[in-house]
Amino acid sequence: MNHPRIVVLGAGIVGASIAYHLARQGAEVTVLEQSSPGSGVTAHSFAWINPLGEFPAAARPLRTQALADYRRLEQELPDLQINWSGALCYHPDDVPSADDQQPGLARQWLDQDRIGQLEPNLRQPPERARFAPGEGSLDPLAVTDCLLEGARRHGARILLQTAALELQVQGQDPVRVITSTGVHQADHVVLATGCGTPALLAPLGIELPVQPSPSILLRLDAPPGLVKTLVSNDLLEIREASDGSLLAAEDYIDAQGPQGPQAIAEQALASIRQSFRGAESVTLRSVEVGQRPMPVDQLPVIGPCHTHPRLYLAVMHAGVTLAPTVGRLICQELLQARQCAELAPCRPDRFGH
Ligand SMILES: Cc1cc2nc3c(=O)[nH]c(=O)nc-3n(C[C@H](O)[C@H](O)[C@H](O)COP(=O)(O)OP(=O)(O)OC[C@H]3O[C@@H](n4cnc5c(N)ncnc54)[C@H](O)[C@@H]3O)c2cc1C
Repeated sequence: MNHPRIVVLGAGIVGASIAYHLARQGAEVTVLEQSSPGSGVTAHSFAWINPLGEFPAAARPLRTQALADYRRLEQELPDLQINWSGALCYHPDDVPSADDQQPGLARQWLDQDRIGQLEPNLRQPPERARFAPGEGSLDPLAVTDCLLEGARRHGARILLQTAALELQVQGQDPVRVITSTGVHQADHVVLATGCGTPALLAPLGIELPVQPSPSILLRLDAPPGLVKTLVSNDLLEIREASDGSLLAAEDYIDAQGPQGPQAIAEQALASIRQSFRGAESVTLRSVEVGQRPMPVDQLPVIGPCHTHPRLYLAVMHAGVTLAPTVGRLICQELLQARQCAELAPCRPDRFGH
């Protein structure tokens, strides 16, 4: 199968990256997206390329390749923009670890003076913080568009407003994808449909334990240059966006009331004003809730379905961080029939599928 026909369902950042890598290697790729590119959770992402964040240890070999893969994509796709601002993290339980010395991921421990130089508007720089100079962030919609454009240049067809309604699989026959606009046949179907994946698999008797996990993205109008790096502490994750506004991410507890998104946004605004000099004029532009596709064990679900091997799943949290690496590895698995060791802990068959 030199040029297999591959349908990628979903044009979030994960599906876009998979489509790009496959098309670049000569596969005949069709992307089917029910709405517009990035219109799922990708649009609401804080989009920190965060290879050493909190995650199950088994995901480490995947995440630690993210920075190198984004650097590679920058070379391949000159329009792809990443803000390599570095990330400044301070949490009370932080201690130096072997990770600080990982080649290509090195993090430095900074004292208060140095922190103050990096973030001169911080009213009370902590006594020490970890700084990861090689980390950065991106505009998730712009990067999704850029990957899709790259896929298109390599011959991929991108069909928007096209919802996959049903997957018909029979033995070794090509898969039939019944959509709102017609039927597509494929040698492989990659499901990069985020929170929409369990509903597509359920009629096949596959119960995928992936739940929507809500998280809040705040957009704030602020004086330019207020926050220089990406700052992560117990109160906030905050950075400047490409249009000069500020983005902040917050956990989300209830749909409304004192733990609801609006109340949490107002608390976050108060702590931004308190934390940064010159932040008195910061105002909330919007409060968005994004539903992260969260596997029950928080590990990505990547690989062929045991029962229907022509269906290949690609559902994960921290999809912005993982997208370029996952795209590259899935391409190797589908086009070169390789089994990538990094993906071994992510297989769907851990759930019996
Ligand atoms: C507030 C917030 C902050 C975050 N911060 C970070 C971060 O700092 N770093 C990080 O790595 N990650 C972060 N994430 C998580 C990250 O945004 C997601 O993991 C990532 O965007 C998932 O991308 P995806 O392409 O898998 O999913 P999605 O973007 O949801 O894409 C799935 C696509 O599939 C389409 N689709 C669904 N069903 C069908 C169907 N039947 N037919 C056709 N199309 C269909 C949808 O329309 C959608 O476009 C954050 C998320 C939130 C909400």
